[in-house]
Amino acid sequence: MIYLDNAATTKTAPEVVEAMLPFFGEIYGNPSAIYSMGSAGKKAVNTARRSIASVIGAKQEEIYFTAGGTEADNWALKAAAEACRKKGRHIITTKIEHHAVLHTCRYLEENGFAVTYLDVDGEGLVDPEMLKAAIRPDTVLISVMFANNEIGTLEPVGEIGAIARERGILFHTDAVQAFGQVPIDVEALKIDMLSASAHKLNGPKGVGMLYVRSGLKLGPFVHGGAQERNRRAGTENVPAIVGFGAAAARAAARMEEKGRKERELRDYLIRKIEEQIPYCRLNGHREKRLPGNANISFRFIEGESLLIMLDMRGICASSGSACTSGSLDPSHVLLAMGLEHEEAHGSLRMTLSEENTREEMDEVVEALKAIVTRLREMSPLYEDFVKSGKGA
Ligand code: PLP
Repeated sequence: MIYLDNAATTKTAPEVVEAMLPFFGEIYGNPSAIYSMGSAGKKAVNTARRSIASVIGAKQEEIYFTAGGTEADNWALKAAAEACRKKGRHIITTKIEHHAVLHTCRYLEENGFAVTYLDVDGEGLVDPEMLKAAIRPDTVLISVMFANNEIGTLEPVGEIGAIARERGILFHTDAVQAFGQVPIDVEALKIDMLSASAHKLNGPKGVGMLYVRSGLKLGPFVHGGAQERNRRAGTENVPAIVGFGAAAARAAARMEEKGRKERELRDYLIRKIEEQIPYCRLNGHREKRLPGNANISFRFIEGESLLIMLDMRGICASSGSACTSGSLDPSHVLLAMGLEHEEAHGSLRMTLSEENTREEMDEVVEALKAIVTRLREMSPLYEDFVKSGKGA
């Protein structure tokens, strides 16, 4: 099997599993308990908190554990909007956010807030000048993702943070795809809230965190207990949190080496595809992108057919469209970048890990060449295109 879907989720690293195991076994005490087995759990949770904080230059007490990136996004947006309701009711975000942000914004629109969804350019970049122009006297919150999950484009977060801070507007960034993959410094980038999720960095699923800058008064999202300093009730998922901490420490230690390796493989893969398969285009910014992301549209092809045929050859990837989740709409991200429906439908996202090899990339290119040729032979659109002489 060749696994190229690391943006969807990653393999839990053996040392992460190792770190978690005692907390499924002998150390099962409730971290809120007074006796020593409870305090061992509490200590482990705080060690994890410290590891995670240090990845983004935050303080330990600024990290709040959640049940994943989706919850962190929901909490940040809903609680920040609520906290600012009296000051203003305008929020700015982008058209290419993950649905965890977009659907939360829709919910807020139904609850008295106005939301501006910023356009992006052809490479998926937000324009800070456009952001400035969208700011109104009642703007209280800006949410722009650190890196896009489909196309990998890295947004100008530092510029956005400076604009927000200068105007006293809260700034949240969904860093689920970027945390542990690229350097992040919440102080330097003037980030007020940041979401991350463990399963994108070889940690377990179902655990994430929200960074909340100290001094920011954000209400709780889950009520019912004093855990997470009264802000996120419920007995802590100790094994998962310990796993997140181990994954964060591991990611920080190998970020540079892993990034270099993935970038090299990614550029090799993109170059080979561009050289060997006609009528394709790279989606997203060529340099300002996540190290492991290659997203390519093949004209006259249905992404879903491509995925099925890749799967038959043992290659796991993802399509930019939402077809697999039961909707036939093409990706909102690719459409926001100005792609035609047909091009958006023919997109393929391949997200690499440091475990992939050049030989695998060669195998993927050979498979793509054969599959794309076969699918195009069956495509009436391609036949028309060839007959019209446009392809000559
Ligand atoms: N935000 C982004 C950018 C993502 O890519 C994802 C997951 O794919 C999420 C949020 C949701 O994270 P989780 O799966 O931990 O709920």
